[in-house]
Amino acid sequence: MKNYQSSVKKVDSVTSVTIDRLMSITCDKCHKTYGESHQWDEIQEFHHIEFTAGYGANRFHDGYKIKADICQYCFYEMIIGFCTIEENDCPF
Ligand SMILES: [Zn+2]
Repeated sequence: MKNYQSSVKKVDSVTSVTIDRLMSITCDKCHKTYGESHQWDEIQEFHHIEFTAGYGANRFHDGYKIKADICQYCFYEMIIGFCTIEENDCPF
């Protein structure tokens, strides 16, 4: 679940834009909420799953919308047994 805070910013005398800022996010698996300023690294590592079940889906009903926000720790535990991990050449 994502918690947004909206604000309106005036660009000029006739134009304004609404800005949605993500204030916190809760993992749908472990239910831990991240939202403090020191947890932005944690928030950016969330995995957001969203898809529509296709015709003939055996586990989800046809056409149902499926959504989940999963923290990096739960996602790691979910896929570590079968995922492929490749070393990155990135210097970070
Ligand atoms: Zn989690």
